[in-house]
This record gives sequence, C-alpha cells and structure tokens, in this order.
Amino acid sequence: MNPDVVVIGAGVVGACCARACVEAGLTVVVVDRGAVAGGTTGGGEGNILVSDKEPGPELDLALLSRELWAQMAGSLGDSFELDPKGGLVVATHQHTLDYLLRFADEQRACGVIAEPVAATDLPDHEPRISRDLAGGVLYPQDMQVQPMLAAAHIIEAACATGRTTLMTDCAVTGIDVDASGAVSGVRTAQGVISTRHVINAAGTWGGEIAALAGVELPILPRRGFILVTEPLPPLVRHKVYAADYVANVASDNAGLETSAVIEGTHSGTILIGASRERVGFDKTLDWHVLGRLAKQAIEIFPLLAEVQLLRTYGGFRPYCPDHLPVIGPDPRVPGLLHACGHEGAGVGLGAATGHVIAQWITGASTSIDLAPFSPARFGASHVA
Ligand SMILES: Cc1cc2nc3c(=O)[nH]c(=O)nc-3n(C[C@H](O)[C@H](O)[C@H](O)COP(=O)(O)OP(=O)(O)OC[C@H]3O[C@@H](n4cnc5c(N)ncnc54)[C@H](O)[C@@H]3O)c2cc1C
Repeated sequence: MNPDVVVIGAGVVGACCARACVEAGLTVVVVDRGAVAGGTTGGGEGNILVSDKEPGPELDLALLSRELWAQMAGSLGDSFELDPKGGLVVATHQHTLDYLLRFADEQRACGVIAEPVAATDLPDHEPRISRDLAGGVLYPQDMQVQPMLAAAHIIEAACATGRTTLMTDCAVTGIDVDASGAVSGVRTAQGVISTRHVINAAGTWGGEIAALAGVELPILPRRGFILVTEPLPPLVRHKVYAADYVANVASDNAGLETSAVIEGTHSGTILIGASRERVGFDKTLDWHVLGRLAKQAIEIFPLLAEVQLLRTYGGFRPYCPDHLPVIGPDPRVPGLLHACGHEGAGVGLGAATGHVIAQWITGASTSIDLAPFSPARFGASHVA
C-alpha cells in the first residue's frame, strides 16, 4: 500500500480530512485502532456553532465550516441529520445579558447573524422556556448533526470513490522518517504503509501520535457528560444554552464547570449538557455533575423536571492550553500534518479542518491563514 496520505483517526475530523483529500484527487488510507467514531466523536454532541466563538481565527474557521457542512449534507443526501435549527443563547440575569449583547455586537462585526431577543419575546421562539429569564440572542446560523452518523457516512462516501481504504481495529504504532527527517511511512498493527503525508486526526490522543514522530503536542482530555431524556414530542426547537457556557468554554480552570445546554434530536430525545473538567481519562460516572446539569437545565426549561432520563454518557474533549485546535503542517517533521485538539468544537470545525488540510497538501492556497493553528505556537520541542 502506498497512498498519498494516511489519516490516523476515524472520528469526525479524520473523516472530513479523508473526504477533502479524496475530493482533491489524492489516495487515502484511514487507520483507527478502534471503530469509526469510537473516540470522542461517539461521546459528544453534534453542534455546529458560531454563537459560542469570539472574534478571531476560530470564528473564521467556524463560519467557513458551517458552509462546508451544508454543502456536504447536500451531496451526501441528508445521511447525518443536519438540522439548521439555529441557536438561542439565554441569560438568567441582567448583567449576563449585558455581556451577551456586547459579545453579539462584536460577533456581528465578523459576519455572524446575532439577533437580540427581549425576555418577553423568548416564548415566541421557545414556547416552553422559563418566564424568568432576562433575555437572549438568536443565532440562526447554528446547526446540528448526528456526529457518529456524520463520521460514518463521510468515510463511506470517501471509500465509495475507490480512492480511500479504511482500516479499523488497527493501531498505529510508529511513524517512519527518511534520512532527511521527512515522513516515509506509518507502522501499524497490520504492517507498514508507505506514504509521504500523515494526518494526525487522533483527537485527544493527538499528543501520542505526535510523540511517535518525535515531537510534542500539548493535548489533554477535558471530560464532559451528557444527559439523555426519554423520547418526547418536539419541545425544544433550537439549541438553547445559557450565556455562562461561553465563559466556561474559554476558561482555563481545571475544576468542574457546568452550564445548561439543551437541544432536541431527530429521535425525540433531549440532550442536556455540558460539563467540563480536567480529570485525565477518568470515566467514572459523577452523580454530582449529572445533578448540576439537570438542575441548570430545569431553570431554563421547567417542564424538564417532569421528564424521565434514559441514560447518560460522556467523552474526553481534546483540549489545547489556548483552546485553539492544531491544524496544519508540523515544521519539525516534513510530511506530518496535525488536525486535532478541537476541544468542544471538533464536529463544528471538522469540515473546514479537512478542507484546509487538503488544500495545503495539494499546494493550493488555504482558505484560512493556518498560522494561528500551527503547532509552532507551542515552541519547537522534540521528545526523546
Ligand atoms: C460531552 C461532549 C460534548 C461535545 N459537544 C460537541 C458539540 O456539540 N459540537 C462539537 O463540535 N464538538 C463537540 N464535542 C467535541 C467533539 O466531540 C470533538 O471535538 C470531536 O469529536 C473530536 O473528533 P476527532 O475526530 O478529532 O477525535 P476522535 O473522535 O476522538 O477520533 C480520534 C480517533 O483516533 C483514534 N486513535 C487514537 N490513537 C490511535 C492510534 N495509536 N492508532 C490508531 N487510531 C488511534 C481513536 O481510536 C479515535 O477513534 C463534544 C465533546 C464532548 C465530550
């Protein structure tokens, strides 16, 4: 096997990278030590948000990505439940609303559609919402997908071209370089794959893959839990979340942070998030966290107090210290590219990530400046 590109990781980001590379005319092998979407992609939600991004490189990437998601959904026949439902961010107190309105002003200057909603008008958008809120902002550009279906169908479509091979249950154990230090192949549990380009799409485990190539990447797990209700008739129309969520996303605090995030799904269940804490890869269920999530959700949708929970699940967001993903070539190892560390936005940012990575490999100018996402921002350290 001698593909143009080996993608390590069959999560949503790896899937988007594979598809973009194939569309750019490259041959691809996708390798995952487990199943498609068996990593964080199978442990999160599927929001494609611009509403929670402050002006800057991540917002630029998010705006590009939502366009690309819509195009992908069009060409893949709505196979992954893309729902352009819009987001509604609400404030419980006046001081939070003041902050939210200022934040929305800044976002509008960057091309985000953000419409202030007075407290009295909130029920027009969400009839079941609490009457005790201070107000909110509507973000019509926010969308939702089912992330596991997205990863699976995007990889399936790439394989259907005949130019992509998927290898699951196949761990990558090494990255080979030639005498000049450039990538020459990938060692796996099923043998060596010769290639000149490796895309590290290993999410929370992106640092381990980087280490196989002899370089450091500071990616850490940031745990999150989700509650899932029983299936219900449509009660929640938008992605609805508390304004505090934006501050939690941007926080460097390793301790527990929770803020209500509520949304319906095609199957009728309601998903309730979102917690954030850095506790390593500890998967232990934490009832205290689940209780906090439930309480905060009921403050926004009081009717949830009467609803049964079906289950809970969680995952490990790939967290970088500056909250930006690592996207682009690694100057320390020619041929190694990173597409990982997207924290709580890997689904939303996945489409644009694959797009710019494929552009870079084929020598096209990238739609977005990759400098802010470069691994060089962490310093040029190598590992032994
Ligand atoms: C509770 C929660 C809620 C979230 N909500 C959202 C949301 O609403 N919107 C959003 O955009 N994002 C959300 N996220 C974040 C999102 O899920 C992640 O950013 C995204 O799934 C990362 O995708 P990925 O493809 O980079 O990584 P992953 O899905 O983790 O894929 C990486 C893959 O690499 C493989 N791998 C690792 N090591 C090796 C190896 N040595 N050899 C071979 N394969 C290897 C793994 O098996 C894995 O399948 C949420 C996350 C959580 C936990």
